[in-house]
Amino acid sequence: MIRNVRLRSILGEFKIEDHTIMYHKFMPKFYNFCLEQGMDPEKITPSRAFCSDESQGLPIILMSKHFGAFPFDHGLVGGIMAHGRHAPHAHHGKDLVILQASHVGYEPRTQRFGRYRRLQTEDQHFSSNCGAIHATLEWYLDELKFAQNNIQMQIVDEKLLITIDKELIEQDYEEGLFLNLETLVEHDEITGDLLPPVKILSTSRVYPASQELMDYLKESDCKFSETPKPIGRCLHPSMFSFKRDQTQFTNMQRNLHEYLPWVVTSGNPMLSAAEINVQIEFDKAYRSIVREESYHCKNLIYIAGLNIDYSPTTGQHFPLSQFVPWAAYIQKSNGEHKVLEQDQLYEALMACSSKNKDQVNLDDMLWD
Ligand SMILES: [Zn+2]
Repeated sequence: MIRNVRLRSILGEFKIEDHTIMYHKFMPKFYNFCLEQGMDPEKITPSRAFCSDESQGLPIILMSKHFGAFPFDHGLVGGIMAHGRHAPHAHHGKDLVILQASHVGYEPRTQRFGRYRRLQTEDQHFSSNCGAIHATLEWYLDELKFAQNNIQMQIVDEKLLITIDKELIEQDYEEGLFLNLETLVEHDEITGDLLPPVKILSTSRVYPASQELMDYLKESDCKFSETPKPIGRCLHPSMFSFKRDQTQFTNMQRNLHEYLPWVVTSGNPMLSAAEINVQIEFDKAYRSIVREESYHCKNLIYIAGLNIDYSPTTGQHFPLSQFVPWAAYIQKSNGEHKVLEQDQLYEALMACSSKNKDQVNLDDMLWD
């Protein structure tokens, strides 16, 4: 069935508009939020679970400045949290703070997500950001492109016909994009078998489009005519799935795999992937923190969100990073605990002052 659902109805809506905070304002607010929750200014061990990318430098420097301590490294490539590091973090402070973020580049001139200027390269060229997300998506985007270009739509004698590459019909491969053929091609309602093709070509077969596909197209802005045209972006995520050997999956692939049809067909695959990674990581990390004995009877605040790295221009040393909070887990030493959802968390942070009387001057600290 073509499920015309949006990803937000599966994972919850990740809001960016009106939910971003400039990092230089976010970090003092975060610090004041921790004090508001009863943390002791002298006893906080901050921790960050960020990607290893140099674009994540400014948030780490600001965290050191506002919390007065260099943050413990809780992060793996792609902003994945290293759950095995909970115990050492727990042992390094009375009150514990964890900030976790996936990241995505943003090029303001073109308003494109996923691009970032590498000022330190010879020609200051743009490259993908986050590189780990880009590397994860590349294979899936190539598979999608092949399918989008090798399924053709055409109206013949007022009937919508669909021409599909033989390889995509036979699906005689272990890994790749697998079409949900019954959503695309007219088939026997009882057995589910495809009706015979109306024409067999050298590398493809032509079928009458399914009623389901015609109904979907009628409600969309996809229009086809007598001239054959690739299905392109009209290939909806519920019309296919991906299969891949999962034994070698990275944590990032594990997080994203199920949602990749939606990610790769979205207008901004890098942004969509980063958002989903945050959502899945918060859910997983929250559970691992709750179960971690070393964290029991400790004050702990864990915030997860998205770092948007504004691509720097010549002369800028750091990107103008923004933070989009997603959710927070707050635990008190007496056992009380709660989760703040995106709107509640954003409002709670915005209610905190962006002035921090305890912030340290990093130059002074080096020589005292
Ligand atoms: Zn990265």
